[in-house]
Amino acid sequence: MDTMFECSKERLDDKIKTFSAFGATGNGGITRFALSEADIAARNEFKKRMAAIGAEVLTDDMANMYATLPGGDKSLPRIALGSHCDSVRNGGNYDGILGVIAAMEVLETVADKGIPHRNPLTAVIWTNEEGALYPPAMMSSGVICGKFDKGAMLASRGVSPEAEGKTFGEALAVSGFSGSREYRFNPTDYRAMLELHIEQGPVMEAENKQIGVVDGVVGMFNYRIRTRGQADHAGTTPMKFRRDALLAAASAIKWLHTELDKLPKDLVYTTGELKLHPNVHTVIPDEADFSLDVRHWDPAVLESALGIVKSIPKEFDRCSVSYSEAWSRKRCEFDPNLVNIVEKSAQALGYSYMRIHSGPGHDAQYVSDMLPTTMIFVPSKDGHSHCEEEFTSLDDAWAGINVALNTILSL
Ligand SMILES: [Zn+2]
Repeated sequence: MDTMFECSKERLDDKIKTFSAFGATGNGGITRFALSEADIAARNEFKKRMAAIGAEVLTDDMANMYATLPGGDKSLPRIALGSHCDSVRNGGNYDGILGVIAAMEVLETVADKGIPHRNPLTAVIWTNEEGALYPPAMMSSGVICGKFDKGAMLASRGVSPEAEGKTFGEALAVSGFSGSREYRFNPTDYRAMLELHIEQGPVMEAENKQIGVVDGVVGMFNYRIRTRGQADHAGTTPMKFRRDALLAAASAIKWLHTELDKLPKDLVYTTGELKLHPNVHTVIPDEADFSLDVRHWDPAVLESALGIVKSIPKEFDRCSVSYSEAWSRKRCEFDPNLVNIVEKSAQALGYSYMRIHSGPGHDAQYVSDMLPTTMIFVPSKDGHSHCEEEFTSLDDAWAGINVALNTILSL
């Protein structure tokens, strides 16, 4: 590594504060659904700041935004940095938006200091990463990278009152950000993509590391497990005659925990959703249906976990048990060369760093199927995310962005 560059901490602080106002809840966090008024305000601010440094701002047909600063050689492909600016309901001021702010800060630093660079640099906003109002998550990077059908995505209907019954397509049409398909991110015009993101977990803070060198996204599977019993009256049916599907579900969950805990300690698994029928306080439940989300980096460990799920007893508490796969994804490995450059940049800047896998999915995961991609993580205070307490210190954000800046420049 030769000369190392630093971005402006003051300008970064100003951006974090400015963007925290778009969709502010009044309790320290934001609700900024994709294509909402708050999201559009954030996009306009992005456009204004990028135009101010002479970047050309284009929008594709999924409202993904690309602000490009020309490089020394017009014939070279662009190097992209970016993330999303939408949030979950009552989310924080860092998830996604910090990656967009990082991209802006890198371009602003390069423009401001007149740092010579050959490839054009592009700051990207990926539309509707959270999928909080219009499911699914990672919608627009998914469409661009061929994972989702655009027609099906446009037909996705809003799941909360804020959508006023509209589909994503209808919201897109009136957003003012529906651009042209020809501007879509593609492997010819782009060379690489870098996404800076908060860790959203407690590991880096516990390890006292400033930079997470992300080598990929863990594999996962999501199963539905159902128990079936008999609905009967809560007042007339003695305990010994009951076939209570909820009790059976509780036994099944307990059994899964006991067995899955025999696997490596870094396996994570969650039952976060339970559907109960008929869900009436005077009726013994006859059906329970719960989710099981299982994640690990090593495919062999996931395979063992799957074996356990499939060997679940056919009966608990005189209720039948069945299972089916809801969905799964293979692990995604980021570009090893880019991962090394991120690591070397962190080292050269004198920051503490660690290799880490991403547990959550990110836009970078879909993009990585298209061209060399990687991510940089910065610590989340107390591991909190998707809540208003979400916080990353200015120093940690600044360090992460300096790594992004120097990674981009050494490409
Ligand atoms: Zn995110």
